[in-house]
Formats: sequence, structure tokens, C-alpha cells
Amino acid sequence: MIDFNRPPFVGTEMTYIQQAIGNNKLCGDGEFTKKCSQWMKEKLGTQYALLTTSCTHALEMAAHLCDLQSGDEVIMPSYTFVSTADAFVLKGAKIVFVDVHPESMNIDETKIEAAITEKTKVIVPVHYAGVACEMDTIMDIARRHNLLVVEDAAQGVNAYYKGRALGTIGDFGCFSFHETKNYTMGEGGALLFQDPKYLERAEILREKGTDRSKFFRGQIDKYTWVDFGSSYLPSDMNAAYLYAQLEACDKIDAQRMAIWNLYNEGLKELADRGLIEQPFVPKSCVHNAHMYYIKLKDLETRSALISYLREKDICAVFHYIPLHSATAGRKFGRFHGEDKYTTVESERLMRLPMYYSLTLEEAAQVVEAIKAFPAFQ
Ligand SMILES: *Cc1c(COP(=O)(O)O)cnc(C)c1O
Repeated sequence: MIDFNRPPFVGTEMTYIQQAIGNNKLCGDGEFTKKCSQWMKEKLGTQYALLTTSCTHALEMAAHLCDLQSGDEVIMPSYTFVSTADAFVLKGAKIVFVDVHPESMNIDETKIEAAITEKTKVIVPVHYAGVACEMDTIMDIARRHNLLVVEDAAQGVNAYYKGRALGTIGDFGCFSFHETKNYTMGEGGALLFQDPKYLERAEILREKGTDRSKFFRGQIDKYTWVDFGSSYLPSDMNAAYLYAQLEACDKIDAQRMAIWNLYNEGLKELADRGLIEQPFVPKSCVHNAHMYYIKLKDLETRSALISYLREKDICAVFHYIPLHSATAGRKFGRFHGEDKYTTVESERLMRLPMYYSLTLEEAAQVVEAIKAFPAFQ
């Protein structure tokens, strides 16, 4: 059986978890939480990185920090995970979906400006498959219209746009360390930002609305309830697991990239024959092999191929059902402009198994199985 995903395990996790236990501090902001933040600062060049309990929560913190009011509008692609929208819906915001580029499935930056109204406050680019959105254009639009940019970089940890790490380009960047992502702590995430003006408010939000972070740094002699907040800090045990993975990021990435390249080369022949389409990575992007997908002719072909692979004990899956077509999407949002690509392209897309412990032999088996699909003969 070739699973679709398995959580990565590099071998040093147990030692670090034991150390965390030995530290007699299992709650948030212990030794390993700090080490993970430090790694993000040094490796990715972010000014601030706060570890959170999920990317969903990092997005929620960003929505709070953007100071959204009920009725404000937030622009994002419809082809994304529910959390991208949920965080802003919780603030009472209205979601305005725009179409994607068919070759990257990222938000079409040329469609953003027409969707802006006097209520628009935030643009949320989602870096699908760890391939960057056109950030120069998006940042330029945001600056000209006085909007904030929250990058949903859940899939984009250690991926780059024109040399800059994804998640560090917008006003806020949100990472996921869920077990399906490149590096994990089971459930977890991080909020990144560059401007020191957000730090105090972010720390208060993350510590239940208290100024406890300042207290722990010895800047004040007691802590109190100063604003609204929640509990967005992960346990240091989870951070210990993550730190082991961040330290081994080159090893993890090398294996994922080898699988990605094997798929890409192995399936090229089918693409040359016009039977499938392969992912496109623009020159400005260094991706992180988060995902390998192909596009089939249509929904029917995709369903048939998924079933065919399942019979051969290979688990390939489809991805997002566009948010604007879901019950909550219709209630909380609207699609601006024509849905030229979002729906049709999402119906054609199929993801292949991709994880650290997947062997190249198994990946080659996946390629052979796809090539043997009767409709391709
Ligand atoms: C995984 C993912 C999320 C949610 O991450 P969690 O850490 O599970 O909350 C949000 N957005 C995108 C694009 C994702 O892929």
C-alpha cells in the first residue's frame, strides 16, 4: 500500500521530546519553542516568528492584528483550504473570491484590483504547492490601495520568491506544521511579521489577552488582563518534535525534491502526448516540493484514474472543492468576476503520494501505474 501521506520522522524527535520533559516546562514558550522561532529568523530572515497551535490560528491572529471590523472585505482565491477564509469570517468580514491562474492555481493578481471596494482591507495570497504568488504585483496593489497582505504560506515553508522566503513578504505570513506539511509537530503553525509595531499586540493575543510575555522577560513585575485574546501557544513537547524536523530540513527537502523530480521526468511523456498537464514553476520561484499534482482531461478521467490507482493500492487524491460553491462560502462570500478557471481546473487536478519516507522505488511504481492507465494507451 502506498499511502497519500505519512508524517515525517527523522529520528531525533524522541531525544528532543525527552529533553523537553526533562526541562520541567511542557507549556508554551519553552526551550524548543524558542529554538524553532530562532530557526525561522535565521533561516528565513523573518524579524518575528511566533509559534502557534496551527496555521488556522496564525491566520486568526493575523485577522485580529489587521483590526478587521464587521463588514470589511478580504480578497482571496476560492481554490484554497477553508481556514484561509474561516479566520476572517470569525471577524465578521465578507470574503471576496477571485479567479486563479490555471498554470499555478495561485490567485490571478491581475483580477485583484477590480475586486477592491471602499470596504476592502486585506488581500490573502495562498502559495499553492509552495509555489509563490506574484508577490511584487500584489504588494504594489496593496500599497497603492492602503491594504494589508496576509500570506497563507501553510504550504510554503522554506520556499522562495525572488530570493525572499514566503511568509516574510506580506505584512503577515502564516505557516502550517500539520502532519501533512513538509515539517511537522502534529498540529502547529507560526505567525511571521516584520514590523515591530505588531509585536506587543501579537504576544497579548497569543497569551489569553494578558501581558504575560513581558512578565516572563522581566519587563514588568506582574501580569494582568489587558485586551481580548486566546490561547494560541503550542506545548514545548510539540515544538521539540518540530525542532528535530527543522534541523533536518535539508534532508527532508532533498528526499521530497527527488520524488518531485522523478514524478516530473517520469510523467513527461504523458504530458508530451497531451494526456496530462504538469505543474509549472515560474523562474522567480524556488519551490519546496510540497506537492506533486497532475491535471487530467476532466473530472470523469480523474475519478477513473483515482479508482484505478486505488485498485493497485496507490492512494492519489483530489484537492480543494472551491470555497465559493460550498454552503458557508455562499453565506460568507461572493465570487468577483468570472469563474473561468477555479472550478474547471480544480476538477482536473490530482495529487500524488508525497512524503519524506516515500522511497524512490515506490514513486517509480506510482509513475508506472499511471502510465498503465487504460485511457492512456
Ligand atoms: C494546511 C493548510 C492550512 C491549515 O493549516 P493548519 O495548520 O492545519 O491549521 C491553511 N491553508 C492552507 C493553504 C493549507 O494548506
